[in-house]
Amino acid sequence: MTDTLTAVKTTIPHVIAGARVDDDARRGPVFNPATGEQTAEVVLADAARIDEAVVAAYAAQIAWRNTGLGRRSHVMFKLREIIEQRNIELARLITAEHGKTVDDALGEVARGLENVEFCAGLMHHLKGDYSEQVARGVDVHQVRQPLGVVACITPFNFPAMVPLWMVTTAIAAGNAVILKPSERDPSAAVWLADAFREAGLPDGILNVVHGDKVTVDAILDHPDIKAVSFVGSTPIAKYIYTRSAEQGKRVQALGGAKNHMVVMPDADLDAAADAAVSAAYGSAGERCMAVSVLVTVGEVADPLIEKISERMSRLVIGDGADPASEMGPLITREARERVAGFVDGAAGEGATVVVDGRSHEFEGDGFFIGASLVDRVQPGMRVYDEEIFGPVLSVVRVDTYDEAVELINASRYANGVAVFTRDGKTARSFEYDIEVGMVGVNVPIPVPVGAFSFGGWKDSLFGDTHMYGPESFNFYTRRKVVTTRWPEPSESQIDLGFPTH
Ligand code: NAD
Repeated sequence: MTDTLTAVKTTIPHVIAGARVDDDARRGPVFNPATGEQTAEVVLADAARIDEAVVAAYAAQIAWRNTGLGRRSHVMFKLREIIEQRNIELARLITAEHGKTVDDALGEVARGLENVEFCAGLMHHLKGDYSEQVARGVDVHQVRQPLGVVACITPFNFPAMVPLWMVTTAIAAGNAVILKPSERDPSAAVWLADAFREAGLPDGILNVVHGDKVTVDAILDHPDIKAVSFVGSTPIAKYIYTRSAEQGKRVQALGGAKNHMVVMPDADLDAAADAAVSAAYGSAGERCMAVSVLVTVGEVADPLIEKISERMSRLVIGDGADPASEMGPLITREARERVAGFVDGAAGEGATVVVDGRSHEFEGDGFFIGASLVDRVQPGMRVYDEEIFGPVLSVVRVDTYDEAVELINASRYANGVAVFTRDGKTARSFEYDIEVGMVGVNVPIPVPVGAFSFGGWKDSLFGDTHMYGPESFNFYTRRKVVTTRWPEPSESQIDLGFPTH
């Protein structure tokens, strides 16, 4: 696998039917965000390339569907072993294109592996139902069958974990996949395709096709792609959802987020400060479950802000490949400028910039920005209303628990939320009252473990099926219900009435 990695350093190819393909005319640059240097170019597929991949996937899926479940399960076990043994190789590859620290990349690989472990139990997840004797001599059973060829379109911020959320379940359920990873950090997807192949997955079941909007549109319009799983920003998620549905496809499209962390007056403020700093600035805030708004209830604001500021002054920001770094750069120069723009605008809108990440000095041309803390933020300010997707934590001060809940429930985003309290009744009420898909009680980033499923509400998810875990098996299969009867031929008679019990 190391040889392969060396080979993709200059031109990052598609993987179609097990072969590397890189003769596309269109290409995009791939950077190392820590140095600002272009390290590779990635090929960008057009509609003809998508069609080539779909033809390969379609043919391969027929045989894969026929493969015994035990054999499919074996691929999952083997895949787990390969990824676990070489996790550092994959993590370093992620760091080189995404910028996050290697430790953080190892974390994303571990969370992706949870779904591989879940999928290894596919024999259980694909079980059907059976009802005996629904009428005299009549039985009914339900089976789950794969959809055929499905597409997975993934964001830059988790180049291994999100593909593992989608692709693994789709394949476990008997489908063939077209994976379109983010064009900004595409190598992890190629690495995963190699790992699946080494685990025994037949060629053509996992095809990696790189690209941009042109490529995505070709996926959405292709008649032989039966379902689309998407994770990315809200405007694109909505577009994917609408256009896929128009084409009659099954679709789940997860969008952006603005995650609030409520700190109640009875909370342990040191624990809350640790959690806020970790969840706001980990991965430079480029996580869909990052905490971006701190909601302080009552008198906690001043002491909490002091504790957070003190911790921020000790953050080590640098190249993610350096083991000393705790926070890396942003994904692109444009992302850096965009994040700086939010801090620029905050003071003009009436907020108070307590810690200004723009003033943090860095050597070289990497896409770095320091961590920012902005106090006295209100709805209606850009810094509150929009997803920043960078290391900026806003503080909204409220007087009561009810105000905190009202604020959060008015947000268009509803991915994750957390409450910090030592009171069980408050925690229980919060869980009940809050209109958000994933809730943490003293847990700042409540990403559910692999045996549950992941997804937000409102503009954070278009569609009705969450990702990975049990719901994912529903998404990637269609149910067929079979009614059977084995009558004696002598009992046969004509009856034009509608069948009843
Ligand atoms: P993005 O929406 O820019 O891109 C996501 C995917 O869509 C990429 O593969 C990209 O090539 C493709 N794409 C981009 N523009 C397109 C267009 N105009 N038409 C068709 N396809 C297009 O998102 P990103 O910047 O890669 O990722 C960050 C975003 O993803 C953030 O908003 C973050 O909150 C979100 N995200 C959400 C979750 C979640 O679970 N809800 C998880 C991770 C990331």
